[in-house]
Amino acid sequence: MGIARLAERSPVLESKRRVEYLEIESRSLIGKCSSLRMPFRFTINPYRGCEFGCRYCYARYAHEFMELRDPVLFETRIFAKQFNAAAFRAEIARVPQTESIWIGTATDPYQPAERRYNLTRRILEVFARERGRRIGITTKSDLVARDAGLIARIAAANSIHINLTVTTLDERLARLIEPLAPRPSLRLKAVETLTAAGIRCTVLAHPVMPLINDSEKSLDGLCSAAARAGAFSFSAAPLFLKPCSKQVFLPFIDRHFPQLSRRYHERYDRQDFLKGEYPARLRERVAKLIAKHGLNQRDIGGLPDPWPDTPQLELFQRGNFSRPGNVISC
Ligand code: SF4
Repeated sequence: MGIARLAERSPVLESKRRVEYLEIESRSLIGKCSSLRMPFRFTINPYRGCEFGCRYCYARYAHEFMELRDPVLFETRIFAKQFNAAAFRAEIARVPQTESIWIGTATDPYQPAERRYNLTRRILEVFARERGRRIGITTKSDLVARDAGLIARIAAANSIHINLTVTTLDERLARLIEPLAPRPSLRLKAVETLTAAGIRCTVLAHPVMPLINDSEKSLDGLCSAAARAGAFSFSAAPLFLKPCSKQVFLPFIDRHFPQLSRRYHERYDRQDFLKGEYPARLRERVAKLIAKHGLNQRDIGGLPDPWPDTPQLELFQRGNFSRPGNVISC
């Protein structure tokens, strides 16, 4: 049965004022990633849709597969996948030990639904019985710290790495671009907790939005905060906009950053990725900051402060942007 039919007949688990939670049948929890740019071939996304509602989110396309074309439904109709531990163990057994399995490649595994349904935790409980696995988690939520003990147990016999996305330290800006995601300070606190438990973390500044969060001051602050929190590495990658994200992000820019509107439309209306000098300049800026703060480069892909007075990257004057390397953003 197609995913749209499954979505249509999914029973409602619970509704709150804005969000409806449904349970969706799932033939398998582990998906295959065909992109050669990604450092993993296997993915797990316990939820479809994400309540955090980041304005730049590229995962909205996943709801289109279910014929839910209104982009807002991605934030308000959340599907929790059915979970069966025995079936999941059998799925893991089919993944070669040399392959990485990454959790949270499309939607956040620690979004608010996780407090209710504990799917990510149940998945990790299964991994806690594995040996020699290579596992990664990407999230924007401090809820991951809830599982620090469990993740540390997994780390004792497997390789596990956590990516915490923090795009800005400016709480006002964060609220604007990532309306329901936990505050940046809470995410950094989670890095501290995980690091104290011996778990290796990367802080991801993904995406870097031209002239919004790309100033040296902003990236320096982030990199420094990541180092203080004990992160192992730091990464930043430029914004890219799939057609489904443009529908949300560009009107958001028109409304909240009208002074940038023309330039964003010029660069993104007809392409998804920035080309030219900008990505190279960003890489250079970030590499210097990583060295300055004693962090490591993450080998896979990668404000104004609308409001700061330090110079941004001036990319628009220089034009052009290029396809980033491997980007995972959540
Ligand atoms: S970018 Fe990640 S955290 Fe934000 S809405 Fe999309 S899936 Fe959720």
